[in-house]
Amino acid sequence: MEEFLVRRERARNGAADDGFKEECAVVGVLGDPEAANFCYLGLYAMQHRGQEGAGIVSTDGSAMYAHRELGLVSDVFRSEVLARLEGRAAVGHNRYATFGSKDWQNLQPFVANFADDSFAIAHNGNLINAVEVRQELEHKGAIFSSTSDTEVILHLIARATAETTLMKKVAAALHQVRGAYSLVVLSHNSMIAVRDPFGVRPLSLGRIKDAYIVASETCAFDLLNAEFVRDIEPGEILEIRQDGKMCSDYSLACGKSALCVFEFIYFARPDSVIGGRQVYTARKRLGAELAIEQPADADVVVPVPDSGVPAAIGYAQQIGLPMEFGLIRNHYVGRTFIEPKQSIRDFGVKIKLNANRNVLEGKRIIVVDDSIVRGTTCRKIIKMLRGSGAREVHFRVSSPPTTGSCFYGIDTPSHAELIAATHSLEDIRCFIDADTLGYLSREGVFRAVGGSCDEFCDACFSGEYRLGKPKNDAKAGVVKLNYPRQRGGC
Ligand code: AMP
Repeated sequence: MEEFLVRRERARNGAADDGFKEECAVVGVLGDPEAANFCYLGLYAMQHRGQEGAGIVSTDGSAMYAHRELGLVSDVFRSEVLARLEGRAAVGHNRYATFGSKDWQNLQPFVANFADDSFAIAHNGNLINAVEVRQELEHKGAIFSSTSDTEVILHLIARATAETTLMKKVAAALHQVRGAYSLVVLSHNSMIAVRDPFGVRPLSLGRIKDAYIVASETCAFDLLNAEFVRDIEPGEILEIRQDGKMCSDYSLACGKSALCVFEFIYFARPDSVIGGRQVYTARKRLGAELAIEQPADADVVVPVPDSGVPAAIGYAQQIGLPMEFGLIRNHYVGRTFIEPKQSIRDFGVKIKLNANRNVLEGKRIIVVDDSIVRGTTCRKIIKMLRGSGAREVHFRVSSPPTTGSCFYGIDTPSHAELIAATHSLEDIRCFIDADTLGYLSREGVFRAVGGSCDEFCDACFSGEYRLGKPKNDAKAGVVKLNYPRQRGGC
């Protein structure tokens, strides 16, 4: 009960709070008797977008079958579970949220029943006016069973009784919400894929023989041998019917786009193609631009695995230095582990990353990572590198300083916890204990990704929240930095 009250309080306090902070993947398949299996494999390929829990809802045209559980995709869906998810259409969801671990109610897809129909919905992104809409709905008697903003959309669809088709109901519902959403809605006879007016989160359409698939990332298509057809456009509501007929409604479109640039920097899988751009190539170019803007005199380039690897390759190639794995990642670390009673120095980082003394001993190294958020991980990494013999550590970041929280679906901490929001470059360098520190410029990011700043959302670097912010964004404050032992000039 107490936990419920806390959740409710968080939900009321605004989308800026953890309850509404989600990173997710969505997938939908229509037109194949193996639809649920395909969704399962799609979710498997997109596990990086959410590890808290997963779910699939399928339909055989008359009933809906659902399974949702906390855990990784491979644990959630055993073969007997998948066998129960019958029908030629299914929708799936991977969820990651910072809020609580036993958060079963928030697992998606959600299912709702009308008088004579049902639908399931899976959502990637965050709404910025969910709290206001939710309060309004609650005053009208709506009962919510989760703290997820997606449930707000569900209620709005169910209440669009003046509309005659599901597609129109979805459109009417979405005209009342603001924020980032890539959605897949499944009914007994159709699948609807939607991207918000600015297309913040990716969503692509593919084909597997006669069936259609939509997925957050194209890496899901590769695993299924699906052919990429096109991206769902910003503001598009695409309906695919059981007979394969398609139609689109663009009433949400505003002629703009604000694709999340952080998908290219950190979040998406490098083998995905987003907005016509190969993520791997973009990441390598980020590294190359970084080398041009922020060179360093050193012996070897060391990536922070995994997300820093392509940028480090680009950096090393551009600067003409070898790249070596000076940090080795353990790929089998789950999200939780039991810390030993006697404290082991830097245990939390070491369980995931270990310094490779062979590469580091006596060397001047350039460490390349994609971002600095709180600065606490890279501080521990640098300590480990020095402890394993690195003579100099030059830290290079393939993005600009992260100065703003994301309200559109990436899990970043509050403004107060973002080290670059409240501290100078020199303060950060001292805190992480690097010999030098260099970030990529905003211009460098757009040169690397290819495109202009008005095509993307880069609010986490620029503070330009093109979709607006939630009303309750009062998360200012200053985190006091605890500096390590002083190194030259701090
Ligand atoms: P820190 O040094 O504590 O700021 O952590 C930096 C690390 O966090 C980098 O290696 C990033 O790849 C990683 N990172 C960046 N954004 C996120 C995110 N939204 N969720 C989890 N890790 C992230």
